[in-house]
Amino acid sequence: MRKLEDVLKDWEAVIGLEVHTELTALDTKMFCNCRLSHDDPPNTNVCPVCLGMPGALPVPNRKAIQSIVMAGLATNCQIMKHSMFYRKHYFYPDMAKNFQTTQGPVAFCMHGHLDLEVEGAGAAERPLWEDVAADGETPIARAEDGSYTVPIRILRIHMEEDAAKMVHSGGEEGRITGASESFIDYNRCGTPLIELVTEPDLRTPEEARLFMEKLQQTFKTLGISDCSLENGSMRCDGNISLRRRGETRLGTKAEMKNINSFKSLHDALEYEICRQAEVLEEGGIIYQETRHWEPSRRRTVVMRVKETADDYRLFPDPDLAPFDLTDDFIEEARARIPELPDAKAARYVAELGLKRADARQIAGDPAVASFFEEALEGAPAKVVATIANVMVNLAPSFDALTPAQVRGVAGLLAEDAITFAQAREVLEAVNGTDEDPERVVDERGMRQVTDTAALEPIVDEVLARCTDQVQQYHDGNKKVVGYLVGQCMKASHGTGNPKLFNKLLTARLEA
Ligand SMILES: [Zn+2]
Repeated sequence: MRKLEDVLKDWEAVIGLEVHTELTALDTKMFCNCRLSHDDPPNTNVCPVCLGMPGALPVPNRKAIQSIVMAGLATNCQIMKHSMFYRKHYFYPDMAKNFQTTQGPVAFCMHGHLDLEVEGAGAAERPLWEDVAADGETPIARAEDGSYTVPIRILRIHMEEDAAKMVHSGGEEGRITGASESFIDYNRCGTPLIELVTEPDLRTPEEARLFMEKLQQTFKTLGISDCSLENGSMRCDGNISLRRRGETRLGTKAEMKNINSFKSLHDALEYEICRQAEVLEEGGIIYQETRHWEPSRRRTVVMRVKETADDYRLFPDPDLAPFDLTDDFIEEARARIPELPDAKAARYVAELGLKRADARQIAGDPAVASFFEEALEGAPAKVVATIANVMVNLAPSFDALTPAQVRGVAGLLAEDAITFAQAREVLEAVNGTDEDPERVVDERGMRQVTDTAALEPIVDEVLARCTDQVQQYHDGNKKVVGYLVGQCMKASHGTGNPKLFNKLLTARLEA
């Protein structure tokens, strides 16, 4: 198969995503009072409603609807005051009532968008000549390094319920094919689920990956779900078709399932784009079908030929009255939205002077952001950027640091009392304890001499001894300073500050 980069020169990839998110932060299911929990023994959180017993009547979960309205507001959607629930019929053991309760043509949230900032190597996936986004109006402005911003339209976010969990044993990779036994756990049945559908506005695997990442950050910040791709509380299907560059008609799309990581999403789309290009270039036909991504073999395989919407016999649920959301209800939801990642990152750059990449990384995860803000408390202004640096480059390797410990280590780094390598050692020592980094540094005699008067004699001694290297420096080999710093460090038994040695040596050699 040809490489993605080559394929995308001839073909335009048209990608849309459908993202299901379980509202794991809620206590109860969508239409009954059963407890929401993934840890309880199978089939213990069930009742006549979620088991679809005759005569059982559903009652919508008010908090779930508040959560979806928050999700809609945070993704720039219009909140539809009038909407209703529909029944989507199908026969399968994972839904005992034989239909899923979902929404019809009008969802609670319609017509939103998220803006993606695409940078780094991934930005090169979209060919440089493309200068208008899929909405046909927004220009794509490229920065000098190739990075760009593109709006991705959201068609809708609707409310529905999850099905029961099925476990197939005895078969290959836990799938039903070849299985000897299947088990059903109805605890998950009726879990409040929101489904977000994008317009087919994504053009590269990287954009799809970034969209999912941004959506996860947004929903996590809203506190409506733990958004775990790994555990399935956030699931993503991708629709993809190709068309020749310049063509406006859409090609036949294939749907991809079983995507449980950001990397899988990228790799599966990359594979599928290249596969479809090969089929089309050889004069073949793309079938509308559902394909399954196999990460271990790095390929997609056919699961089933897709049903059409008619097969589901969708009609309004007679047991659930149409909804009329009040302004008060919508405003109450709006008031619960915390500062979102984009706004937070912009504030970190403007108010704290952080580098954009650091600001975005910290603001992207609400737990990391609140840890960071706690670490800032009482920190002098000149330490702020170092705290961010420690948060981004060192802290992720440790699992049990306190904000005060990060602030302490950053303070020591900022005053050059320790090196970056020593900072790692100090964090290692205090991780999981209530130890003060300052004390660890003193106890281990790590504190570096930053007193120029104490270091100058060492510099003199090293320069007098290393005449060859001094000559090399004057002959133009400036890198030899690194060797001289090493000699100074050795002579000071590691107590001198390497940055300061470098400064003193350079000043002496240039004099
Ligand atoms: Zn129930």
